[in-house]
Amino acid sequence: ARQALLSAATGPGATADGHPVPLLANVGGPRDLDAALANGAEGVGLYRTEFLFLDRAEPPTAREQEEAYRAVLNAFPGGRVVVRTLDAGADKPLAFLPPPGEEPNPALGERGLRMFRVHPEVMDAQLAALAAAAADSPAKLQVMAPMVADAEEARWFVQACRAAGLPEAGVMIEIPAAALRAADLAAEVDFFSIGTNDLAQYTFAADRQVGALAPFQDPWQPALLDLIHLAASAAAERDTPCGVCGEAASDPVLACVLVGLGVTSLSMGAPALPAVRAALARHTREQCVKAADAARAAGTAAQARSAAREHLPGLA
Ligand code: PEP
Ligand code: MG
Repeated sequence: ARQALLSAATGPGATADGHPVPLLANVGGPRDLDAALANGAEGVGLYRTEFLFLDRAEPPTAREQEEAYRAVLNAFPGGRVVVRTLDAGADKPLAFLPPPGEEPNPALGERGLRMFRVHPEVMDAQLAALAAAAADSPAKLQVMAPMVADAEEARWFVQACRAAGLPEAGVMIEIPAAALRAADLAAEVDFFSIGTNDLAQYTFAADRQVGALAPFQDPWQPALLDLIHLAASAAAERDTPCGVCGEAASDPVLACVLVGLGVTSLSMGAPALPAVRAALARHTREQCVKAADAARAAGTAAQARSAAREHLPGLA
């Protein structure tokens, strides 16, 4: 029993009935690794590479990029590291990559993967640096693109990754169209990672940076849960792994619900890992599925949360 308690506190993520749910950390660069390791992350589920490119007039050199990627890969021998390619624009403006045209609505502009269609040389340089860093890596590197809208964009990105020598390529599901047509996207990629922050923003047409609209960012909204369920179900049909790397994963109750919706791994800010690990360890997968069904049957975010909690005893 002591061993079980100990592994519930520090070991790999799993439900009470032993269904594994890898628990990964969101990081912005090598400086976040200590916290990820201290909180028992099994790897990195979202490496936001923008931080390396911020506040500079020129992109980082190939060598600078390789060093940063290698530092993160080296921290997780035997684990996995999911690196997100540059997500420039909107809430993450980069001085050297301004939007190519006038943009009255930057969140709806040429951002994320769309920027790479305008500047494929920036993508190619980043993928080449990632491939170089992966060559002698003790961790498995998975690369994913942000702001992918459809299967054609997914195919374009995956082809670029394959051409660069990167064997595992996936996409973020953070645009409602991508969730709605997840079956088409799953046919193109090795994995999904659902970004609940942007998926909420675009589902509710509510800018995530406008404080007055914060209630729309609530990841308990049943409409958001439906889209997550849709994407996770389409992924499961093809045995495509489907993680969540948005804020939603850091709420222990919602983490159980996400597992019940069919999500296969959870990535979050490192401080949230222990509570999520403990919540999963105390509930079976079946309880998680019942909690997810109850949440989706609710009419509001608040009702979804209280309905889910009834199936997850012991969680606040
Ligand atoms: C998201 O959109 O949910 C996400 C994880 O990415 P970011 O918050 O960096 O846009
Ligand atoms: Mg996002």
